[in-house]
Amino acid sequence: MGLSDVEAGFRNAAGIETVIGVLRQRFGDRLQTGEALRAQHAHTTTYLPAQSPDAVAFPESADEIKMIVRACAAHKVPVIPFGAGSSLEGHVNAPHGGISIDMARMNRVLEVNAEDLDCTVEPGVTREQLNSDLRDTGLFFPIDPGANASIGGMTATRASGTNAVRYGTMRDNVIAVTAVTASGEEIRTARRARKSSAGYDLTRLFVGSEGTLGVLTSVTLRLQGIPQAISGGVCPFPSVEAACNAVIMTIQMGIPVARIELLDALQMKACNAYSGLSYPESPTLFLEFHGTDAGVAEQAGLFSEIASECGGGEFQWTAEAEHRTGCGKPDTMHTGRHCSFVRAPRVSPQMSACRFRGLPNASPRPRPISSPPDLIAPIVGHAGDGNFHVLVLIDTGDPAEIAAAEDFVGRLNERALAMDGTCTGEHGIGQGKRPYLSLEMGEGVAVMRQIKQGA
Ligand SMILES: Cc1cc2nc3c(=O)[nH]c(=O)nc-3n(C[C@H](O)[C@H](O)[C@H](O)COP(=O)(O)OP(=O)(O)OC[C@H]3O[C@@H](n4cnc5c(N)ncnc54)[C@H](O)[C@@H]3O)c2cc1C
Repeated sequence: MGLSDVEAGFRNAAGIETVIGVLRQRFGDRLQTGEALRAQHAHTTTYLPAQSPDAVAFPESADEIKMIVRACAAHKVPVIPFGAGSSLEGHVNAPHGGISIDMARMNRVLEVNAEDLDCTVEPGVTREQLNSDLRDTGLFFPIDPGANASIGGMTATRASGTNAVRYGTMRDNVIAVTAVTASGEEIRTARRARKSSAGYDLTRLFVGSEGTLGVLTSVTLRLQGIPQAISGGVCPFPSVEAACNAVIMTIQMGIPVARIELLDALQMKACNAYSGLSYPESPTLFLEFHGTDAGVAEQAGLFSEIASECGGGEFQWTAEAEHRTGCGKPDTMHTGRHCSFVRAPRVSPQMSACRFRGLPNASPRPRPISSPPDLIAPIVGHAGDGNFHVLVLIDTGDPAEIAAAEDFVGRLNERALAMDGTCTGEHGIGQGKRPYLSLEMGEGVAVMRQIKQGA
């Protein structure tokens, strides 16, 4: 289907029916058309309305993906790759119907090259599965978007998360991909070489392409050695600005912090209420340091000095794992940050849904933008890389609240772009951020269209 058809809202009912018939012969039970399963493949986690695909296919190999793509291309039927469905901008919706390609059965770790610090996986491998497989090698894959997302989905959305400040994003950690393009051919974007200057950087083009240029069939990733010691700490501040100043000084001093997460006072209140914690309900930084025993102690000491210079309260830190991480343990230092997405709605139980919006890099320093007084909107930020999220809690049955949230998000994005930031520091464009892509990229969008049309 061409872009113009898609934009005109074209739904090719006859083509869809034909493709389902063709695929059913090849896939049998691995092609499902039940309503509940289709709905599950269109959930958006936000107020965006769900738009189900017509069928869900469960391929087990690149050859099967080629077959699906060729059948769909022949009959002008959309395909929507599906990883773990944790994206937040309506990415897996099927506005024109079509076939959802669920990667759950393509979940093998294909090779681990421990000496080269890389591995190649099928796209359905999840982040937690990969790290569990790698445990005995002393290596780990550092990108952590919070959700147990698939590596294919993380690549397609150029995901990052809590420790991007130390390890980068998917852009920095994907070495190569293989992908089935719209013509049904499988291409490989690069070799395993750590560096190469061979031609256009097709790998970077696919990282963040959100399924528009092809279906990823494997991803080669950089790995890291598991640090000898990890310490974590938490520190309250009198204001968001004071916390941001501490972040800026920490980064400017070159302290190699692995995570530095900001929760505002409202978010801290939500975490305390949900988890029975008793943290001060003021803006708070959660930190993690990776290194040797001596190294993490030194980093924590340096941060402690910075925090006190910026007016922060006592910096409590520990290197003991059981006190540092893991959801659901009330005494856990990072429980608050890790579970903030599920905890936020508890602040206001009458609100039925929340909306998790990537707030832009408000360069030169992270700075919050107030929401109108009638919206409840706690903030969670990956402060180390200047990116933070506002969770606008709205009743999705109330059009006035949706309109107020839309207005707020619009102003937020415009302000970020005015500061030379971005409308989406992570999470990608999907459906939710489409109106802002042109604002941010201008004529660049026309080039993206040409690339898409040629893919
Ligand atoms: C609680 C929570 C916290 C989150 N925090 C963060 C965060 O800190 N940072 C962050 O970056 N994200 C975050 N996210 C968003 C989400 O986890 C990421 O966008 C993630 O990368 C999506 O991966 P997925 O496997 O769920 O992909 P899906 O949601 O299944 O798909 C996402 C997109 O990728 C495409 N896609 C999936 N698989 C393939 C494939 N094999 N080939 C081609 N295209 C494919 C889909 O078509 C879709 O466009 C969070 C989500 C939740 C629910």
